[in-house]
Amino acid sequence: QAILHLQNVTKQFSESTYPAVDNVSLTLQQGDVLGLLGPSGCGKTTLLRMIAGFERLESGTIEIGGQVVCNTSKYIPAEQRDIGVVFQDYALFPHLNVAENVAFGLRNISKQQIQKRVAEVIELVSLKGLEKRYPYELSGGQQQRVALARALAPQPQIMLLDEPLSNLDIQVRLRLREEVREILKAAGTSAIFVTHDQEEALAISDIVGVMQQGHLEQLGTPEEIYTHPASRFVAEFVTQANFLPARRQGNLWETEVGSFEIPVHHNNDTGEIMIRQEDLILKPTTDAPVVIRTRRFLGREYQYCLQTPSGKELHARTMTNTALPVGTKVQISIASDAVKVFPG
Ligand code: ADP
Ligand code: MG
Repeated sequence: QAILHLQNVTKQFSESTYPAVDNVSLTLQQGDVLGLLGPSGCGKTTLLRMIAGFERLESGTIEIGGQVVCNTSKYIPAEQRDIGVVFQDYALFPHLNVAENVAFGLRNISKQQIQKRVAEVIELVSLKGLEKRYPYELSGGQQQRVALARALAPQPQIMLLDEPLSNLDIQVRLRLREEVREILKAAGTSAIFVTHDQEEALAISDIVGVMQQGHLEQLGTPEEIYTHPASRFVAEFVTQANFLPARRQGNLWETEVGSFEIPVHHNNDTGEIMIRQEDLILKPTTDAPVVIRTRRFLGREYQYCLQTPSGKELHARTMTNTALPVGTKVQISIASDAVKVFPG
């Protein structure tokens, strides 16, 4: 069941020459976490602000729970939309303690009910025992849990989280991203989670939307996005794949490093082969055209930087039990049958 539906939503700031959000349509299903992924400036925050009701739109329709909350002639203000928001910078009230911050959005219920609800969400975000602390007495991760609890307390229909983990250091971020997903699932809330980090988006989401320059490029499960990127942009941004220019000869796609048999669904005779770093197989061969330029140890894997005859760089990752020294000439083959050729 759809909780949120956007139809052809466009936002153009008057001082800008191109739309910040360009004709975006998407549906958020009840209980799902939708990860909105894209580089800085692609329109993620603007889209979130329109859904929250902080921003109007130029064209399109936003529906929440089947009701139109915004179109060109209608605008329901933020406080009537039943949405919880968490920002990157926590935005806690510094003069209120944890329990008071969490209680802030609770209205029209008795003092006793407020206390009960505050205790519930504080438990949910694992902050029990810290109720009387002030924001400055908490770590960044703890402050973001308070912000999460405050947004969840009124039991909103939808939670919007705008890069909530970006200000935290890596270890806290990795732990919290697991927890945030569990907390949202336990609360049963539908959510949109904005991030510019592809790994974070894949890890936290039921559905991922990839944005570029205001457009929604692709909407799909993390697995779909990773294995079947819809465009070269998605492939590059989400999987950091290599691209090799290629020309079709019969069933084969010829490249400067060899020919590969790849079934394709378009009729172009030229294109670029997408090869993920983990799908490149390297076989040492004395007269091979590709040479290993650098090797980086990443713990579980080595990352190689390879150079082709034309000087192009390719990146490969292999398990550390197959180390090849820098300078080795290698023949390249492709492991996965999920390689794609983008026409071009
Ligand atoms: P993201 O969150 O993906 O980094 P934003 O939604 O913040 O992207 O910005 C999208 C585009 O809209 C950018 O080009 C940005 O400069 C522009 N923009 C955002 N807010 C405003 C504003 N209030 N006035 C004018 N331009 C804006
Ligand atoms: Mg933003």
